Amino acid sequence: MPVNNDVYRRLMAECAARKVTLVAVSKTKPISDILELYNLGHRDFGENYVQELTQKQPQLPPDVRWHFIGHLQSNKVKFLAPFVHLIHAVDSLKLLREIDRLASKNNRVVRALLQVHIAREETKFGFDEQELEEITVDTLRQLPNTEVVGLMGMASLTKDMEAVRQEFRQLKKLYDALAAHLPQLNTLSMGMSADYAVAIDEGGNMVRIGSLLFGARQ
Ligand SMILES: *Cc1c(COP(=O)(O)O)cnc(C)c1O
Repeated sequence: MPVNNDVYRRLMAECAARKVTLVAVSKTKPISDILELYNLGHRDFGENYVQELTQKQPQLPPDVRWHFIGHLQSNKVKFLAPFVHLIHAVDSLKLLREIDRLASKNNRVVRALLQVHIAREETKFGFDEQELEEITVDTLRQLPNTEVVGLMGMASLTKDMEAVRQEFRQLKKLYDALAAHLPQLNTLSMGMSADYAVAIDEGGNMVRIGSLLFGARQ
């Protein structure tokens, strides 16, 4: 299925106007689709599965910025540490420490977002508000090879856009509170195909969009 070029141009214009980074979520999609967007100048791509990402990465130009947006297990960090641009869904200190260890091993600083649980569903990963408060400047200082640059969240899977808006608003509030202590914060990753407009409205500056660009996944 080819990329929807019109949608891409419209999204890019919208994102540029609002100073939002568009991450094109290419999970399950072939290399040819990714190259199509790459050839239009796009560089930020997001993947959910470690094995799929490590298979695709060597087949694409080295200036692609790979975002890992899925749930990450500590034992798989080693596969991403050499090249990943941003890890979106860090949901434990244990994982953050492992990222730091492997970033150091690769002589890199790896950038990461803390995932916050904002949805009603029980199954979504992420820190809750109290756990987030327990992560202090001191905690992060002990991780010199990890740069925590922001937060990421997923809203409830619902057509009730008012509920979604409230969840994004809550995440923005947490982001602002954290940013008061951590001046390096600059990224709030929220919004997907169905709810990105609401996310941008509520102050998100990075959206992760798959099906709208690449068509529905199997
Ligand atoms: C798949 C996925 C997306 C993109 O979803 P679409 O609805 O296809 O835009 C965004 N974020 C995460 C974490 C995902 O897993």
